[in-house]
Amino acid sequence: MTDIDRSLPPRRAPDGSTDPVSLTAAPPPKPRPAKKPTKKDGPSAEVVAVWEAEDGRCEACTRAMDRTCARVATVPPSSVPRLLCPDCTNHRPDPLTTAVVGPLTAQALAGTLATTVEASAAWLVAGLRTYGVLLRLDGRRRRRRYWLPGVGAFTLFQAPASPPVVGGPLGKLRPHPTIRVKPQARTRGLPRLPQPDGAG
Ligand SMILES: [Zn+2]
Repeated sequence: MTDIDRSLPPRRAPDGSTDPVSLTAAPPPKPRPAKKPTKKDGPSAEVVAVWEAEDGRCEACTRAMDRTCARVATVPPSSVPRLLCPDCTNHRPDPLTTAVVGPLTAQALAGTLATTVEASAAWLVAGLRTYGVLLRLDGRRRRRRYWLPGVGAFTLFQAPASPPVVGGPLGKLRPHPTIRVKPQARTRGLPRLPQPDGAG
């Protein structure tokens, strides 16, 4: 050891602590999970199995949905997992029941359907309520994406304290849009679950 080494003052923490552990100890390495769960991981195997058994239809309100939007819950006294949409899971009314169609969307549809703006808006919102397939949820931005089979994909904007607005279409409208209903292909045939009431 040289004089220079000896002359160096001991290192101290900024708060003047002389606790050697706090001076030298590095934070313990955090065990890293092999794979961080992300939204890309998608639904669990159980959800996918129930979703497939019910052809993606909510067992309370019958809303068709993409598997990424599907939820599974047991309803006592039964322990059978049931397929639920996000709204029935949270005992909320379907936002489409109070939705209105944005003016640009209604205008675009009116041109394609060769009808009035009012009639095309009524046609679209009625079609979405009955046959719209819930494709994506974006709770953070308060929007959803629905697909109306045979017509196109639409966005539902859910601003607080005002009725949800249907916007879009996302992509080109077909020349003669016609709702094409695909009957439910599979079901376990369990008794239908009660729907959340409209009171919210
Ligand atoms: Zn539902």
